[in-house]
Amino acid sequence: MHALIIEDSPVFVRIIEHVLHALGFETTFVGTAADGSAALDQQVFDLLILDLHLPDQDGLEFCRQLRARASHRLLPVLMLTSDESEPLLRRALEAGVTELFHKARLADVQVSLRDYITRLQRQYKGRVLLVEDSPTTAALLRYMLTRMSLTVDHVDTAEAALAALPDGNYDLIVSDVVLAGKITGLGLVRAVRAMESEVSRTPILGLSASEDTARKIEMLKLGANDYVSKPVIEEEFVARVGNLVTAKQLFDQVLEQRRELRERSIRDPLTGLYNRRYLAEMSAQLFAQAEREHQPISLIVLDLDHFKAVNDTHGHDTGDVVLSGIGKLLAQSCRQGDVLARFGGEEFVAVLPNCAEETARQCADRLLDAVRTLRPAGLDITASIGVASANDAAAYPFDALFKIADQAVYAAKHGGRNQVVMGNPMLQAD
Ligand code: GH3
Ligand code: MG
Ligand code: MG
Repeated sequence: MHALIIEDSPVFVRIIEHVLHALGFETTFVGTAADGSAALDQQVFDLLILDLHLPDQDGLEFCRQLRARASHRLLPVLMLTSDESEPLLRRALEAGVTELFHKARLADVQVSLRDYITRLQRQYKGRVLLVEDSPTTAALLRYMLTRMSLTVDHVDTAEAALAALPDGNYDLIVSDVVLAGKITGLGLVRAVRAMESEVSRTPILGLSASEDTARKIEMLKLGANDYVSKPVIEEEFVARVGNLVTAKQLFDQVLEQRRELRERSIRDPLTGLYNRRYLAEMSAQLFAQAEREHQPISLIVLDLDHFKAVNDTHGHDTGDVVLSGIGKLLAQSCRQGDVLARFGGEEFVAVLPNCAEETARQCADRLLDAVRTLRPAGLDITASIGVASANDAAAYPFDALFKIADQAVYAAKHGGRNQVVMGNPMLQAD
């Protein structure tokens, strides 16, 4: 980063030099407007620090001429002045000055300059959708956002913004209130907030002319998070954008943690399958749906054979390897829409919606075959499997069907294990 400083007071030159060097800037100092112009013609600078009173020209006039040239339209210009009046601030902004610093107290200049540059250099990560129909303002804002390391997509109508939003994964929308298309910035805020998806939470920073108080209030009422007045003061813009992007990302983190907690609360950590609690929750839904839609539903209960012996002979850790291997196998072997859970130690349950008895039997045979050939931890593993199907879920809710399948597992154990037994509703006894 290279800064040009046009300043004729040796005291300020020393202060500025000290601060900029500490921040890693290279510096070039000149004492007159003429030398400043010459330096700007010869070389590209990242920052210009300008005195209001130069020996050969007024600083504001210098800045106005500078802004008239396309190549210097976006260069941040910081002005040092001892005049704190409101009219000067307005004139300075109109002339294209980015920020004013008061010379009144030396220490303040140092601190403000350091704060300003540090904030300017602070890097963010994120995507911004910029909705602005004035090419000049759009270019300026894009420049400021890009300097914050944000990725910027620019559109010039609310219609284009609404089309870009669903897949854009944006962390912020920066939108002008007055837009060229049929929908205004206010309409855009309303439409975004009314969206069904998570996109509706995207923070919105409104832009409007400073005298536009009514529209600013309206924009905030509709759900914009903040606004910035035009002409935009870079430091203010950067601070507001930074706050919104940071808040959005913190909120995303909280949501992600909540999702993770939910995942953890419904899954068995060893096998990655659902746990018994979630099975109860889901099966209630699936059985209700089967009843509503008059669809068959089936249950498969699978219990590993002589699993205690695996633990006793090879150790608990090997037992765990076998369980997680079987868990993965079951997850791969079932259809999408089936719900698989680890019901207890070495007992697994699959709920198969829209699945009648014959298909359930084929599925159980396939599972048994897959378990036999898997050889997790290099061991021969078999299972006893019970199947229960209901054509009418109203007559057989989950608990009833589970009892039938469990009895079938019991029968499989007694029949010599390593087999599938179809449940018989007639044997259902309390
Ligand atoms: P059967 O063929 O009659 O089902 O005999 P089994 O040995 O498989 O059945 P039993 O219910 O007697 O033993 C189940 C064993 O599963 C006992 C228990 O220590 C073991 N077990 C339960 N949970 C875990 C686990 O998370 N990890 C390991 N390694 N073993 C477990
Ligand atoms: Mg067992
Ligand atoms: Mg068991």
